[in-house]
Amino acid sequence: MNTDIYRFKLGDFQCIAVSDGTHTYAPPTFPPPATFLFANAPRERLEETLREHNLYLEQWAEWVSPYICLAVNTGQHQVLVDTGANGLGPDTGKLVQNLKSVGIMPEDIDTVIITHGHPDHIGGNTDSEGRPAFPNARYVMWQDEWDFWTSGQAETKLDEHIREVLLASARKNLPPIQDQLELVDHEIEIVPGIRALAAPGHTPGHMALAISSRGEQLLCISDAVLHPIHLEQPEWHAAVDLAPEQVVATRRQLLSRAVTEKALVLAFHFPFPGLGHVSQNEDAWLWQPISTVD
Ligand SMILES: [Zn+2]
Repeated sequence: MNTDIYRFKLGDFQCIAVSDGTHTYAPPTFPPPATFLFANAPRERLEETLREHNLYLEQWAEWVSPYICLAVNTGQHQVLVDTGANGLGPDTGKLVQNLKSVGIMPEDIDTVIITHGHPDHIGGNTDSEGRPAFPNARYVMWQDEWDFWTSGQAETKLDEHIREVLLASARKNLPPIQDQLELVDHEIEIVPGIRALAAPGHTPGHMALAISSRGEQLLCISDAVLHPIHLEQPEWHAAVDLAPEQVVATRRQLLSRAVTEKALVLAFHFPFPGLGHVSQNEDAWLWQPISTVD
């Protein structure tokens, strides 16, 4: 399977999951994957759950995360959701070349929606000259998120190194888009068929998206979950989740909605193309990736 580009239709909308690359999360830069992803998981239950996914706590040394952006051509608008992780590592920053490979030029994008201000979601906001990489686009972000990262007050509970990576990326990728920026503070339709949903917790102004065309639904949940195990164990938050209780509430709301609407779901960090369906399993959920074999 092509792991850079995955095309699919949602009603009348032409959608493409576009990879920006991958990055390996491992010590010493990051905590071991299980500690990073499931910071509050009780050890015994964690070991048991990991085993069901063929993962073994002591041996699980690195987590290779994909970064999946979404291009949506609604017929009226060419929308891009998130700009990838350029600058985070050697295997990132492939978004623009992957878009060009399907005939989408940076100047074709009229709306860039930023789900939140982490470096793996805003890394491609600017080009190598520090100018907005999508010159004709209106960039849309949640007001609280913008304020958090640009106020100079962004406190995180993370260690100094990770904190500096986050703040450096925000300093590089946020101020240059200011002239093209539109901030939202409630759940509005950003373009016809694409609605902003408040999904706080991972970060203060983390945004999900409800995309719909001709009765078909796509729920873009960004980083409300980082790993499929978060559906099965929705109480287990990641070390990078700023407000754990809010993350759990947001997850429950989004995953319930996905079941009710039988929505296709896009999770930014899941194995490419990050698309699947969610089913209820008692008080939790299960992830069913779409079949990408033709
Ligand atoms: Zn992320």
